[in-house]
This record gives sequence, structure tokens and C-alpha cells, in this order.
Amino acid sequence: MLHRPKIQHCKTCGAAVAYRLPDDGDTKERAVCTACHTIHYENPLNVVGTVPVWGNKVLLCKRNIEPRLGKWTLPAGFMELGETVAEGAARETTEEAGAQFEMQELFSMMNVVRVGQVHFFYRARLTSDVFDPGHETMEARLFAEEDIPWDEIAFRTVKETLQHYFADAKAQQFTLHQIDIV
Ligand SMILES: [Zn+2]
Repeated sequence: MLHRPKIQHCKTCGAAVAYRLPDDGDTKERAVCTACHTIHYENPLNVVGTVPVWGNKVLLCKRNIEPRLGKWTLPAGFMELGETVAEGAARETTEEAGAQFEMQELFSMMNVVRVGQVHFFYRARLTSDVFDPGHETMEARLFAEEDIPWDEIAFRTVKETLQHYFADAKAQQFTLHQIDIV
């Protein structure tokens, strides 16, 4: 979940690009190839994940990869082409935690404008408390609210989602949280 570096080279011919307004009336600067004039459009990326729940506990994964190596996160990652948001969230949960679960409702949608990302988290009901984490995860563990390592959470969107989750769980009413992270 890092800001993407600026495009340096044309993806079509490999020549250098220049950031400028294209000649087609576009009002935003784009990376335009200085040789073949291909315009490279950059758009936000979707990060998709789940809040996997077992009783009053939530499943967190300790990251085995950069960035934020060793910090705790909800299972999440970049959405792939050819899948829906919910399918991506389920795939990441399987890959990172090796969890058994049923997908539930969309729970949080967060615009992270600064880094050009939108993060989506679904609630998921765990059907087993046995996990088989993949290589991106050092450890997958269940945490009650009072045991959450709040200072060791990898990403702001994960922290916000967890805070809203426990508040909603207390109120026994889950709603969709739409948040702009600035
Ligand atoms: Zn080119």
C-alpha cells in the first residue's frame, strides 16, 4: 500500500515520458511518451479485504512482507483483474490467513486520496479457528478488543475499520462506514 512512483518510461516503446497535458482536450497532466506519444493513464487502485470474526474476536495477520513488516493487519491486498470486490476480499483472506469463512456485508469503504487508493473491507464469519497462513503472513491470530495491538497496526484504514467494527459490535448494529482518509 505504497504511493506509486511516477512513470519514467513508456510502457509501449520504452522511451522517456514527459508529464504534460495531452493534445486531446484532457485537463489533467499525463505521462506522455516523447517518442510514440502513448498517453499513460493512472487511476486509483482498489485494496480489498475482510474483518474475519470468531465470536467476540477478530483475526489479524502479522505481516511477513514490506511495507510494515512485523505489523498486524486485517487480511487485504490489491484487487486483481477478473474478480469482483468481494471475490478479491475472499481471495486475500484465503491467501494471507488460510482461514475458513463465509462472506458477509460490505463494512467499510475508505478513500485514501493521497495515495490513489480505495480500500474495501467486508465482514466475514469464520467457520473454524484453525488457520494456515501463506508466505505473506508470519502469524494469524484471534484478538478480543482489549488485546488488539493498537500501536502495532500496519495501516490507518485497518485501524479505522477495527475501531468501527468493535463499536458496531457493541451496539449490535452493523452499518456501512464511508470514510475519507486525509
Ligand atoms: Zn512510447
